[in-house]
Amino acid sequence: MPNDPLRVSPIPAFTDNYIWLLETAGQSCAVVDPGAAEPVIEALEARDLRLEFILVTHHHADHIGGISALLARYPAQVFGPGDPRINLCDQVVSEGDRVELPTLGLSFRVIEVPGHTRSHIAYYGHGALFCGDTLFSAGCGRLFEGTPEQMQASLDKLRELPADTRIYCAHEYTQSNCAFASAVEPENSQLKELVEWVDRTRREGAITLPSTLGRELAVNPFMRTREPSVVTAARRLEPDTHPGASTLAVIRAWKDRF
Ligand code: ZN
Ligand code: FE
Repeated sequence: MPNDPLRVSPIPAFTDNYIWLLETAGQSCAVVDPGAAEPVIEALEARDLRLEFILVTHHHADHIGGISALLARYPAQVFGPGDPRINLCDQVVSEGDRVELPTLGLSFRVIEVPGHTRSHIAYYGHGALFCGDTLFSAGCGRLFEGTPEQMQASLDKLRELPADTRIYCAHEYTQSNCAFASAVEPENSQLKELVEWVDRTRREGAITLPSTLGRELAVNPFMRTREPSVVTAARRLEPDTHPGASTLAVIRAWKDRF
């Protein structure tokens, strides 16, 4: 089974969550952030798959709410960050750890990305990043527990990954994020192209994910907090704004009321 390519498909949940389903060749599979159990069980039964691994990025209910019902049905191993609010996690992982999914022939590296929550982690491997609510297409998560400095440092870690890394975030927020990104950088031509594609894709009811890191570096204002155009936009609101975390703080607060 090793060397079989990773296949990732979305299981939609709630209004705009995606639970990512990971498969290779056999019947074994993994899911990331199962906020609900029913859609996962339905998808697994339809494909005759057996859930063996659950990967958790952070403690919010829309990411962990389905775990107990899934465990009642499948004896899966649960990987997640060390946080008492994730009580069904039996494999606590932290920065640099490897998450091995032997029956799938997959292995992921853990990256700590605090900001949205203090214990948020991401999983990287096989050209894919599962980043929960940290990095969205054209946006980033709200700062519920972390500081702008932490989110900036977390996004800086992600920008070190290869540009063709596929970005699997946990929500379909791309269209509204694009509207905000366009307010920040109205002259960004790659963003304009993305807006057209996203509008068309959503009209057809299709998914806008995964993104790629390269695309995010080109269009996502939260990945561009040192770009003069983004810093200038932030300075229109707060004249004493500097490139980096200071700019991230201003545009994140702007997005919160956008
Ligand atoms: Zn969240
Ligand atoms: Fe969420």
